[in-house]
Formats: sequence, structure tokens, C-alpha cells
Amino acid sequence: MIRRRQALVKCREDALHNRSQPVLRPVLDLPAPPRILDPQTPVAIIRREHLVQSVADALQFISYYHPLDYVRALGRAYEREQSAAAKDAIAQILTNSRMSAEGHRPMCQDTGIVNVFLKIGMNVRLEGFDDSLEDAVNDGVRRAYLDPENRLRASVLEDPAFARRNTKDNTPAVIHVQIVPGDAIAVDVAAKGGGSEAKSKFAMLNPSDSIVDWVVKTVPTMGAGWCPPGMLGIGVGGTAEKAMLMAKESLMAPIDMAELKARGARSKVEELRIELYDKVNALGIGAQGLGGLSTVLDVKILTYPTHAANLPIALIPNCAATRHVHFVLDGSGPAEFKAPSLDDWPKVAWSPSAQATRVNLDTLTREEVGAWQPGQTLLLSGKLLTGRDAAHKRIQEMLAKGEKLPVDFTNRAIYYVGPVDPVRGEAVGPAGPTTATRMDKFTDTMLGQTGLIAMVGKAERGPAAIESIRKHKAAYLIAVGGAAYLVAKAIRSARVLGFEDLGMEAIYEFDVHEMPVTVAVDSRGNSVHQTGPEQWQKKIVSLKLPVSAA
Ligand code: SF4
Repeated sequence: MIRRRQALVKCREDALHNRSQPVLRPVLDLPAPPRILDPQTPVAIIRREHLVQSVADALQFISYYHPLDYVRALGRAYEREQSAAAKDAIAQILTNSRMSAEGHRPMCQDTGIVNVFLKIGMNVRLEGFDDSLEDAVNDGVRRAYLDPENRLRASVLEDPAFARRNTKDNTPAVIHVQIVPGDAIAVDVAAKGGGSEAKSKFAMLNPSDSIVDWVVKTVPTMGAGWCPPGMLGIGVGGTAEKAMLMAKESLMAPIDMAELKARGARSKVEELRIELYDKVNALGIGAQGLGGLSTVLDVKILTYPTHAANLPIALIPNCAATRHVHFVLDGSGPAEFKAPSLDDWPKVAWSPSAQATRVNLDTLTREEVGAWQPGQTLLLSGKLLTGRDAAHKRIQEMLAKGEKLPVDFTNRAIYYVGPVDPVRGEAVGPAGPTTATRMDKFTDTMLGQTGLIAMVGKAERGPAAIESIRKHKAAYLIAVGGAAYLVAKAIRSARVLGFEDLGMEAIYEFDVHEMPVTVAVDSRGNSVHQTGPEQWQKKIVSLKLPVSAA
């Protein structure tokens, strides 16, 4: 408190003596507004540079440090998991988490779109802002994502309906501002993955409808593209947009389901959280949708009064790359982020299994692919092509025009990935799988016209893609979403083979060594994302398995 008061006094003195403040943007040549400063008034002076640096530091921090509440809850999920496939996936996520924390590199290749919640105290004075509050936050985003020591992936596109141009620095953030009583600014900064954001749901229920029924019916429709185990954020009430905002903001709270269950619910909302947590986990979806005991580690709910005719409900999942941090600016300087102790990570160290099947991609044949079984663990070595949405679209257009492709796909495997740029001598930055269903509409063309025989991505495939895989006797493999740094360690070199102008979406050739994947759809069209959850849902009921421990 003393330090803070001293800082406030110093800030006021600086302001009174009109000392120059750091300015990052061109200053408009406008007359300064008259300033009325009363040294007796307890006003916290928050400088622009302090906000910018705090946002930048927060984003770097959360790119490689999971919140400890997530790590601990995932460690408990690992302990009680009985599905071998799900347990292996959780082990990869935990090992990846620790590696990211040690290496200060992103835990996932999708380093997110930035969400910021600012609660600004009415007794705060903003200093050095020649532009908007949003501009300052975006300067912090830019500074974080372009940091040469740990460059983060720029995933934000402007002109979303048409040109979809990458802004190259991940700006702008999505920013929410509230004016509240007090003399500080409270900030929540999150980096939200596109895969989990894509599974957001909203419904305008009838007032007599059941919230529990809607959530339990809706979660299976989300598939595994949101990279469970994670959290569900739920907003109930208000209007359509208020419900969505509450669902997102609810995810900023720490995971405390174990504590809640231990002490018991003290409100209707807490009762509902527990009921939803138990019922969603009893669905058997499990880590990465492979079937298992832990689909969600917590369920958060915020509510708001609503119209008598409405029951708006929004659901937003948070994924294995749960990334958010809270800090307060009170005028004493930029926020400080204390590095967690690695001793707090569970003692889980994933390594390739001796039982896994070693596959040489350089000599791969359709017969070998045909022998793979659903759920089988493979370790891929050799040359692996990459490509995702934009490359697939262009390939399809070129084939339609009869043009020659820049790459021969015959008897090759393709990895759906958009890696982070490398730093410090890396072959490639974190490079986990992206959601495969986005490539479903290109699958028949790729398998039927290019000679491709295997695909690697994350989460389930749709019915048409599965039928195409069966028809062409190909296979679909999954890598663990949220284990991108661990996967990247299997990549020895990378070179661009085609479509260089697409940046991270270009076609690369990776040289991989023992990259871990699981057979998700075999050449007969059997999908582990269908069989796994079905089996585990039945086992949970018949064996009374303990999904309810947090
Ligand atoms: S863990 Fe999955 S959903 Fe989350 S950011 Fe990574 S790839 Fe996207």
C-alpha cells in the first residue's frame, strides 16, 4: 500500500510538472485539453505505457504458462483416467505444458485471438493517451505477438467476410470495457484458440425449457475440435449478446470444482455447476474425444436478469490451451507476473511407447495403411507434407482448371497444421494439428485425384469424409490438440514446397522423427470418435466409474 501511495504521489507530481510520458504512436497535433488536477483528490494515474507493457507481458506469460489451477485439475484427471487413449492424450498435454513453461515457447500453435476485459475505476486518471484505450491495448498485443524472443502466431484476419487478410500482428483484440467504482483498473487478458471458439453455442430457450437438458444435448454436437479436457463457460439470461459475453467472461475464473464439491453447493448456480459437470463427464467423450472419464474440468456460470418471455443461454468451451491471467493497475507501474514453480506440475513425462508401431513415411503403401487399426498408436518418421484450408482450396481450384500441382502427393501423408514461426534455431515453432473437419469438403478430391493416402489432424471427421476415406482405402490420424510444442520436437527440418505466398498456410515438407499419432479413421471407415465415447459412456454407467471427482 505504501509503495502504491508513493507511486501515486510520484505520478501526480509528474503530471503536475508536465513531465513527458512515453508515447508509442504519432501524436496528433491538437491542443492539449485543460487539465484539472487536485492534489488532494485520491486519483490513481494510469499511464498508457504501463497498460501497453502489462498487456504485452500478460500475453507472453500466458502463451507458455498454463494457469496452475488448470495444471492441477488436469493432473487429477490424469490420475483417475482409465481409458488408455485418453490417458495418453492427457499425458502429452501435461508434458507439453511443462516443456512450454521451461522453454518459454507457446503451448499451442494457435496462439489465439486476444480477449481483454477492462474494469476501470471511476477514480482513475488515464495519462499519455493520445489515442483510444483500444489502441493502447492493441499496441500491447502487437508488442507481444512480434516479440522476437518468443514470436507468437498471428491468426487474426481483417475483412472477414471477403478478403480475409492477415493483419500480421494479431491485432485487433476483442475488448470489453466497464466503468466501475474504485481507483484501479482490473484487467483480464485471454488468448482464445480458434478451435474452441468455433464450438460456441447459443440458444433462445423457452422459459420452461431445461438448461441441463440443453447443455447435455449440445456438448456432443461440439465434437472434439475444442480439444477437451477443458472448461465450459455458460451465460444464462440477459439478451442474446449479454449471454454470450457472460459465457466468455465466466471462463476467466480459476478452476475450483474440486473445492466446490468438497465444501458443497451454497447456491442454485453452484448446484447447477456440479450437476452439469457430472452429467457432461458422464457422456464419456473424454480427452480429445477418444472416450474417457474427463471431458470437462469445470463448468462456470454467470447469470443476469432477462425478459419474461426469454431464457437466453450461451455456451463457450475453453480448450487444453487454457490461457488467461488477471492483473490490476493501480498507478504503481506495470503489472508483474510471477513465474510459477515447475515443482507444481504433476510428475508426468510422456515418451513414445515401446508398443507403438513405427511407420516409415518414405516407403508408405496403401497396403500398409490398410492394416492400421482404429485406436492404434503410430510413430511417424520420414517426410510429411503440410497443408490446411487455403492450400486445399487452391489445390481444388488448380485441379478443376487442369493445372499441375506444385507437389506430388502420391502415397504421401499430409498434416493439417499452421505452425508458429521458429526462433533460436528451431526447425519449426510449436506445430500441433488443426481441426480436420474444415478439410472435409476437400477430402474426396484429395484422395481421389492426388494419390494422397493418409491425413493427420485433430478431432473427428464428418460422414462424407469418412465415406471418402473408406472408398479410397486411406486413413485419418490424429495428433493431440494442445500438445504442439511436444509435437514440434519430432520435426527435424522444414522446407516450403509450394504456395509460399500463403505464409503459415503454405505447403511444407517436414522431416519428422517418431511423431506420435493415433489412427482415428481406418481404411474401413471405422472412427474412434464414434466408438470411443459410445463405449465409455456405457462403461461409466455399467461400472459406476468415478467421473464426478474433480
Ligand atoms: S488446444 Fe486446440 S482449440 Fe485450443 S488453441 Fe490449441 S488447437 Fe486450438
